[in-house]
Amino acid sequence: MLVFKFGGASVKDASAVKNVGEVMKLYSNEEIVVVVSAMGKMTNALEKLAGAYFYKKGNPQSTLKEIKDYHIEILNELFTDEKHSIYDDVNNILVELEWIIEDKPIKDYDFEYDQIVSMGEMISTKIVSAWLIKNDICNIWVDCRDFIKTDNTYREAKLNWEDTEACVNKVVAPLVEKGKRGIVVTQGFVGVTSENFNTTLGREGSDYSAAIIGSILKAETVTIWKDVAGVLNADPKWFKETEKLDALSYHDAIELSFFGATIIHPKTLKPLQNRGIPLYVKSFYNPKEEGTLITSTKELPADVEEKPSFIFKVDQILISILPKDYSFIVEENLSDIFRIFANFSVKINLIQHAALSFSVCVDGDRRKLPLLIKELQKDYKVLYNEDVELVTIRNYNQDTIDRVIQKKKIFVEQKSRQTARFVVKNVD
Ligand code: ASP
Ligand code: MG
Repeated sequence: MLVFKFGGASVKDASAVKNVGEVMKLYSNEEIVVVVSAMGKMTNALEKLAGAYFYKKGNPQSTLKEIKDYHIEILNELFTDEKHSIYDDVNNILVELEWIIEDKPIKDYDFEYDQIVSMGEMISTKIVSAWLIKNDICNIWVDCRDFIKTDNTYREAKLNWEDTEACVNKVVAPLVEKGKRGIVVTQGFVGVTSENFNTTLGREGSDYSAAIIGSILKAETVTIWKDVAGVLNADPKWFKETEKLDALSYHDAIELSFFGATIIHPKTLKPLQNRGIPLYVKSFYNPKEEGTLITSTKELPADVEEKPSFIFKVDQILISILPKDYSFIVEENLSDIFRIFANFSVKINLIQHAALSFSVCVDGDRRKLPLLIKELQKDYKVLYNEDVELVTIRNYNQDTIDRVIQKKKIFVEQKSRQTARFVVKNVD
């Protein structure tokens, strides 16, 4: 049994959906759970709709029309028969959205957001499932709200593992039993509370959905299909000469995503590592190519090369915190400082601790940081540098360091055996 995850880019238009069908044809003898994200940038569009509706800013009706038109255009290209039942299926979901925005919000923004934004996955999976059936790829559309059970932390819902495990085993497992050749199409990113309200698992959470299902069903492998060849050693947005990594350990992949690499949703790897299920990242353009294998260290090919990887986090702020009276920074201060960061939910990306100061690098959040700094200033002297970058190099050497720090002013430098990290700023 395999789990496939197709992200937004892999279903962004009619020809992309057709391509998903081509990939599926390569696996015609397998039982597969197919997890699909919302099409293209539809989650952003639905976010816009949720904002316009809740905050009465902009025009929710016109945003909904854009969402409708986008999907209808894809449908028209895929299903020439206007009487095909998919038109009703998609329309019913769009009508549900219409009903939501015609009424007044009943709870807070995060709640309303999840009721609206989750519809992107409902629509995309209906379309993918119908397209596969039209192409003789027999499958069953299953509502993930029948098995992805969460708490009610809307927009960042925590999985209820026990309930989810029981429901996946009850609802999904029988459909993909070995030898049945069953294919299940279901939604990523979305879950449900015990009171039957929709939740979402955090942006880009479909990878995590695939990992949850894969780990509960003890899949042979989980594959994330992407528009790149696999996990690259740097984000092409920041780096010209990227290379694909052929294989890496769960541990390395977790560290990369912890340091800020965005290729895989950070929560994805742990459930797979716990059950030893290999994760592949492959290109949906070249589905026969190897892609990247992520597995346990002992399963890695012996000749796997430890290529250097680069992770760039831009728009960072380096905050230095000093006692007002020039005493040392000791444990009491540290617990005080960490508590303030936790209270403002500001995530710390790097820490540097010296006798007279304590520095941290954080994302440049223009809303939270002024409040946080004000709070710190009650007891400490606070200095900060805006617009710095945090660069992490895994498997570094002097060459790679020289490459990333040239023409930069270095504020912080940290090296461990495998990882070098720098807080830098461009000098013009
Ligand atoms: N559609 C959701 C998002 O864009 C989930 C995902 O793509 O993984 O964040
Ligand atoms: Mg996505």
